[in-house]
Order: sequence, then structure tokens, then C-alpha cells
Amino acid sequence: MSRCMVLNADYQYLNIEEDWFDSLMLVLQEKADPIEHYPQVVRSQHLAINLPAVVVMRYRVNVKRRGRLFQLPTKKAVFIRDGFECQYCGTRISMGSGTRDHVHPLSRGGANTMTNVVAACKACNLRKADRTPDEAGMALRNKPRPLTDEEKVRCLLKTCRADERRAWLGCLRRMGIALWA
Ligand SMILES: [Zn+2]
Repeated sequence: MSRCMVLNADYQYLNIEEDWFDSLMLVLQEKADPIEHYPQVVRSQHLAINLPAVVVMRYRVNVKRRGRLFQLPTKKAVFIRDGFECQYCGTRISMGSGTRDHVHPLSRGGANTMTNVVAACKACNLRKADRTPDEAGMALRNKPRPLTDEEKVRCLLKTCRADERRAWLGCLRRMGIALWA
């Protein structure tokens, strides 16, 4: 079953509901209003309802952590920003083959932030080891930076299925919703 994008009452992105049953309950319990549906119909003894693709909460959910979602240098976020290329040698890497490198090593007080983590191939990561790029004589191709809004969307949608991407992007476009505006 397809997942549901949940928007806060102010139409800011809240989360992706993985379980179709939970997203349906948000609607049935009148906690959220659907603004986009999938063609799939969920049937029970008393009910036939289209699976919601995007819902908007009726009340504002307090999300202190909203901003942190893309501030943490997860592998996915870092690789998307760095175009799946090792930032030292330029080799193409995949989620499976690549690694994250802390430019200023964690063991020496480096921060675990988007501005201190880059995508690196295993060979470069091993070669650099517990040193700074200067000490290792290795140059960075790009200075690590936070994600742009577009990269955040790509980060969010990277793993989604075609029907999810179609429903979500279509809905956001039609409604003129800018996530993280
Ligand atoms: Zn490399």
C-alpha cells in the first residue's frame, strides 16, 4: 500500500505515514483532512474509502524537531547533496558502496553536522583516516553545506514509488504548497 504525506495545519511538511491504516485513521477520526487520494479503495464491512495520499492536520502539531529532519548528516542526505560522488576523488558511489567522512574527525572534536560530513569512497575514507584533509594532503571537491530545499524534497522522495511521487508532487503543485517555505 502507498504511503501518505502528512502536512501540518499550516501546510508545512510533517511526516510520511508509513502505515496506510494509520493514515486512514487520521481521516476517520477527523484529525486530518485528505487533499489527495490514491485510486486504491480500502473496504471494510461498512466502508469504502479511497486511500489518502496527502492529508492536512486539523490542528497544529507542535514540531520542535521539524528543522532537524534534514540537519542530521544521514547517508542519504549527504549522498544526495554530493551527487553520489566521493568528495575527494570523484568516484561514483552508491548507498551500499559509499561511506560518510567527517572532514574534521569526530574523534578530534569534529561536529556531526551537514557542514562537516561529506560523501567518500571507502578507499579515500581509509586513506584519510583520523586526519584533516590538510594533514592527509587530500583536497575537497566541494565545501560541505546544508541541504537546499530542492535537495530536501529529493531526499524525502528518493525512495518513493512512482504512484507516491505522482500523487504528492501533483498535489503540492496544484495547491501551490511550498514545503519548508
Ligand atoms: Zn574517493
